[in-house]
Amino acid sequence: PPPVVAVVGRPNVGKSTLVNRILGRREAVVEDVPGVTRDRVAYDAAWGGRRFTVLDTGGWEPKAEGLAAAVADQARLAVDAADVVLFVVDATVGATDTDEAVVGVLRRADKPVVLAANKVDDARAEADAATLWSLGLGEPLVVSALHGRGSGDLLDAVLNAL
Ligand code: GDP
Ligand code: MG
Repeated sequence: PPPVVAVVGRPNVGKSTLVNRILGRREAVVEDVPGVTRDRVAYDAAWGGRRFTVLDTGGWEPKAEGLAAAVADQARLAVDAADVVLFVVDATVGATDTDEAVVGVLRRADKPVVLAANKVDDARAEADAATLWSLGLGEPLVVSALHGRGSGDLLDAVLNAL
């Protein structure tokens, strides 16, 4: 089977928008993946002639009090299924406690991680993204899932990490 790229991060950072960007607006093929709940959806994708499965996560609205734990649980399940993890953070907000909870999960997993600093819609927002070096996951790759900015370089990095 093709390698699995799991897209993780707290709600509203733009994971699903990024997945749609990765799929390039082609008709997404929704698949049943063994052991995957309805909260995680797998799609067939391709970049540079290489096929992979992209796993979107989330789709629930946990109560705010349990948010960090729920996001960490979801990340743990997705990471288990992944060959590479695409961790999405909202660069305009910066790292939150919930993002840090995901980082804790990623540190314990022996999987390559690519850090996407999303919502960098213009050059001005690149300074925001630089603060995400503090997460300790290497270079934050700037991207605007909404406009497509940086998405090609991000996909190159994801496939290089496989
Ligand atoms: P998810 O909960 O992580 O899957 O986030 P969504 O993909 O549902 O996006 C949450 C909100 O962020 C939506 O209103 C998106 O339009 C918006 N959004 C996603 N990516 C970007 C981006 O690159 N720039 C901006 N300005 N907004 C974005
Ligand atoms: Mg989503």
